Order: sequence, then structure tokens, then C-alpha cells
Amino acid sequence: MRLSELGEFGLIEKIRRSFSVKSPRAPLSIGDDAAALAVSPSSVLLATTDMLVEGVHFDLSFTDFFSLGWKSAAVNLSDIAAMGGIPRFCLTALAIPPGIGTEQIADFYKGFGAVLREHEVLLVGGDTCSSRKGFIVTVTALGETEKALLLRRSGARPGDRIFVTGTLGESAAGLEILKKRGRRQASGVKRLMEKHLRPVPRVEWGRKIAQSRCATSMIDVSDGLALDLSHLCDESGAGAQLFSGKIPLSNALRRSAGALTGPVLDYALAGGEDYELLFTAPPRKLRKLRGLGIQATEIGIVTKARGISLVNADGKKKPLAPQGYDHFRRR
Ligand code: ADP
Ligand code: MG
Repeated sequence: MRLSELGEFGLIEKIRRSFSVKSPRAPLSIGDDAAALAVSPSSVLLATTDMLVEGVHFDLSFTDFFSLGWKSAAVNLSDIAAMGGIPRFCLTALAIPPGIGTEQIADFYKGFGAVLREHEVLLVGGDTCSSRKGFIVTVTALGETEKALLLRRSGARPGDRIFVTGTLGESAAGLEILKKRGRRQASGVKRLMEKHLRPVPRVEWGRKIAQSRCATSMIDVSDGLALDLSHLCDESGAGAQLFSGKIPLSNALRRSAGALTGPVLDYALAGGEDYELLFTAPPRKLRKLRGLGIQATEIGIVTKARGISLVNADGKKKPLAPQGYDHFRRR
């Protein structure tokens, strides 16, 4: 079968099946934002790795090296945040093509270091090699959490409410504007570009959500709300209804509507790279959740019926395809 038919997630599912781990040493392996590995009776080591490839994930014509370093750290810490964990260590592997010099690598590590300092994460290793073509960055992040507080993708139950932190869609809108016009921008769209180039991993919020024991499941929004919600639902054996009027959109995104090719809601539903946290909580926890002081919006409800539907203001429902970023399908 062709990769374009199987898709990125079909391929991962195949790998997962052939290496199915049924060991108490790995309570969680392939299939969540990070693996959870037993290192002591009460806590788990969280491990995740993410690769950023020039021409696929970033374009050096409008991405500065500081931002690239920043983002490489942020996207990995976001996966630790999605487990409710504390990031502790990371490793960086770089493949460097001709034409990239020491100053650029220094800028990369300035950006990388800025995120690490913010979260008190230590860089403890990695690998360095040449590349014939294209800059490739692979980061592995390690973190920890209490076994009892681990937040998986698989815990959502029918009737749970669905929440998302922050606002959605700005990163994808920012990318579209960067592609079209480069970085010489009017200040109105600066926030969108910032969100794309320097996302903020929601580590503190993830931790608060886990410690409150309010949530039943969690994932970070890297591929797009519709697709990441479908991952969460698939792992939980459930479906969802999303209320289109409740999806949090920033004023910056709404104001930029005229500069974008599609409706703003589409950027929020399918755009990806927001690195916000998407989680579920039963109705009896809503009061406690509101008291946590995190910016989270209720956007839907988990259903027994599989599939995701979008409910419009007039109450009409339509199925929402799990659209978002798939590395092979869009070719
Ligand atoms: P995320 O978007 O949270 O980084 P991915 O969609 O990249 O997650 O991956 C989903 C799951 O599949 C994760 O548990 C990840 O570790 C695992 N995974 C992805 N690619 C591979 C691979 N080539 N081999 C083993 N596991 C993989
Ligand atoms: Mg993730």
C-alpha cells in the first residue's frame, strides 16, 4: 500500500501493532503524546521526540534561527505538558547542510535556551552531523509525573465536557501570511506570526490540570483541533460534538480575516501548531476547573456515538472530518 493511502497515522498504527508493548515497565508506549516509563513505584519518566525538517516544518526564508530553536524546544515541551508532566531534560540532534554557519547555530541555541531556562529544563546530550540538503532538528524531551496523575489521551467518557486552553487558529493564519508576504509586516498580524514562530508550551497549565484531578484525558493541539480531537476520541473509544460558536478565536485572528484566504474558523479547526491543550472533564468538576485560574474554554461534549460533529449556532449538526496535518496524505 502507498504511504499516501495509508497516511501518517495509519503507518504509526502499523508500527504500534507490530511492537505492541504489554509490560508494566512501560505503562504507556506508542499512541500518546509521550511514553510513560516506570522508574519508581509512584512516578513515571515521560519521553517524547519530535523532528523539524526544513521545507516540511519550516522555511528559512521567513524563519530566523532564534525562533527555530525556540520552536524546537517548545513543541517537545508541549508533549510533556499534554501528559500533565514536568519537563526536566532534553537532547538535540542536528543535521546541518552546507551554507549554515556557526552564527546561525548559535542563534538557534539562544532561542532553544530561552525556552529551556523558562522551564528549568537541562540540555544533556544529542548528536551533530552534516546533511546534503536541508536543516533537520530532532529534539527528545524527558519529563516526569506521578503515576496517579498521568493524563492519557484515552480517558474521555461520554458526557465529559471538552475544553481547550488559549485561542486557536493564529499559528496557521500566521504561517499563511508569512508565506505570502514574508516577515515585513504590518503590526496587525505580528501576533499571528509570533504564535507560529514562537509558540508557548502550556506546561504550567498542564500541570495544574493534572494536579487538580479534574481532567479525564488530554492531548496538545499540534495537528489541528479536528484531527487531535479525533486522536483523543479514538483512543477513548468515543465521539464528540463541537460547538462552532464556542471555539476560542483571538481578536487578532478575527481582525485579520480580510487578509486570509479562508474563513477564520477553518484555521482554528484544521490549522494546527497551536500547541494549546485539549482536555476533557466530567460536569461535576467544572466548578473546580474554573477555580484553577487557567484560560480554558468549554467547546464541546464527548459522545458515545463515534465520529465528530460540528454544531452550528442554529443547532444544525454536520460531520467534521478529522482534517489537519498528515505528512503523507496531502502530497
Ligand atoms: P505528537 O503529535 O503528539 O507529537 P505524533 O502524532 O507524532 O504525536 O505521534 C503519535 C504517537 O506515535 C506517539 O506516541 C509517538 O511516539 C508515536 N510514533 C510516531 N512515529 C513513530 C515511529 N516512527 N515509531 C514509533 N512510534 C512512533
Ligand atoms: Mg502531542
